[in-house]
Parts: sequence; structure tokens; C-alpha cells
Amino acid sequence: MIPSLNNKTLFATWGRFPGLRHGSQPRSRAPFLVSIRHFFSGAAVAALVAALACAGAYADESSKPVKAVATTTLLAGFVEEVGGRLVDVRALVPPGVDVHSFQTTPQDSIVMSQARLVVSNGAGLDDFLGSVIRGAAGPDAVHVVASDELPAASALDRSRLQGSGHTLEQHVTGPPDPHYWQNPLYVIHYVERIRDGLIQADGANADAYRVNAERFVQELRLLDQEISAILEAVPPKRRHLVTYHDAFGHFGARYGWKVSGLVSSDAADVTPATIITIMGQVQDQGLPAVFAEPQFRSQVMEQAAQDMGVQVGTIYSDALDRNVATYVEMMRFNAKSLVEHLR
Ligand SMILES: [Zn+2]
Repeated sequence: MIPSLNNKTLFATWGRFPGLRHGSQPRSRAPFLVSIRHFFSGAAVAALVAALACAGAYADESSKPVKAVATTTLLAGFVEEVGGRLVDVRALVPPGVDVHSFQTTPQDSIVMSQARLVVSNGAGLDDFLGSVIRGAAGPDAVHVVASDELPAASALDRSRLQGSGHTLEQHVTGPPDPHYWQNPLYVIHYVERIRDGLIQADGANADAYRVNAERFVQELRLLDQEISAILEAVPPKRRHLVTYHDAFGHFGARYGWKVSGLVSSDAADVTPATIITIMGQVQDQGLPAVFAEPQFRSQVMEQAAQDMGVQVGTIYSDALDRNVATYVEMMRFNAKSLVEHLR
């Protein structure tokens, strides 16, 4: 028997336009999330899927897809996983384009005005969305800030750096690391928030969203284990990811790697002194490779690497492209690339 949930009541305190109260999501929702997660775990999910399939009432497919907008292709992919054919989602930042320096266009406002669900990352990654929302979002659109309520990166940095012989000052200073998805377990949090946003926007299909979300959560748990297993091939002393763009703090914290990045985005200046410091570490540790992202190829870093006889491997942080079409493919690619260049 599937419990009947009154979503209108449960989500009455959610932030809605134009007030944009997402920054103050009530902590009191946490017990509800826990109970749902509990209920839909393991065997309960299998039973629910079977029951829905037998009943032939998997979803209300007669209505039009819910129009959704996400800032990045990665977030749009998460919305697709949870929404399936019930949702028509667009990413504002095109594939392969840097989200940090993205400028919105008038077309984005048109897309935004039609959206019933808007998904952003938050934590300073996609602040450009604020003005588009204020100018164009409909009064009933639901805004999900996927990283809300996740622990601040600075706290993670401190625990990660404890006992490692490094200090926060040696790290790139600047805004907190918004790249939470580099830890697949944080993506579970994203998926749960997106699921709840879709249920708020389209309660008639709540059961389908719950089933889809739980299926993807299981995939994320397996992905996390798979990455850990792949990375085992890298000797512990070489578990140091050096990148141009500082986007892998959450990855490093999850898998026990040291990470060093030169800049928080391509808009930032990188100084020769920073390059010298980090490449000095690369040399001292005998690392055979540093890594760069396709949208952040840095000539300065590539020249330094070439001069030192160090390889530059490919790694993805923020943007999908034709080589990695989904988040899961991206994370798998990254793990294999690390092994290929550092083993
Ligand atoms: Zn980034």
C-alpha cells in the first residue's frame, strides 16, 4: 500500500517566486526527507515499482511535460534522471562552456518565463541566475538550489587538511568550493532536492519521481564504490590531483586525495609564482602528470608541464561534452584518467 502524501502541505514552507526564500530552507524538513529515504529504500522500492507497473498507473502521461530549466548540463542531466519523459529540461549554459564566466542572453529569459521548475547549483557557482529569475520567472515557478544545506567547503577543507602537513593558506583562497557533484554521495542530496521540487511543481506524478530518484540514487552509490575501486590502482604517494581549475576539493575529501588547483575559475588571474609553487610540489613528489579540463586549457600550465617533462591528462569538472555525455560517464572517465596518468 502506497501512503498518500499531501505534498501541498509538506511543501507549503518551500521558497517560491518572487520571494526567493530558498536560502532559508527550513531545517525542519530534514526528518521528512529521512523518513522518505527510509521508506523507499531497498526492497520497498522494488515492491513499489512492481505495484505501479502492475497497476498500469506508473504516471500521468496524458499531461504535457513539465518545463524545467537548469543552469548547467550536469544539473539538467539530474533533472532528466528524476523526471524522465515527464519533464522537458533545458540547460542555460551550453555543453563545453564555462559556467563561471557565463553571461545570460535574452533567450534565457524567454525559456525561464515558461519554466515550472528552475534548478541551480548555488554556493556561488551560478549567481547569474538571480537576475534572470527576478526578471522572467513565473509567479508559481519552483526554484531548487541543489547544494543548499550541504556542509560548507571550508569545513571540509579543514578536516581534509588536518594531519596532511598542509594549511588552508597553501590552498587557493576565495569563494567556497561549489563543485559538490565531484562527490557522488553529494549528488544524492541534489537528486532528493530535485525530486521534491518536481513533486511540488507536478504532484500528480509524485510516485514516478520518487521511483526514478531512488533508482538513480542506487546508481550513484554504485558509482561511488566503482570510483573507489578504480582509484586503488594509484599508489598512495601519487594520490595528488593537480589541476588548473580548483574544482576537486569534494572529490579529494571523498576519496582521500590531496588536491591542488591554480584558480577558482578561468576569470581569475594565475600568477607565475603560483605555477612555480605548485609545479615545485609536482617535481618534489615525482608526480608524472597534472590535469586540465577541456574548457580550461591553460597554456601557462601546459608550457610549465612540458618544460618539466610532466604529462597533462584530461579531467572534467563542470561541463559535459561529446566525449562524456552524462554525469556518470564523466566521473568514470575522470577516475580512469587519473589511473592512466598516475599509476
Ligand atoms: Zn568550476
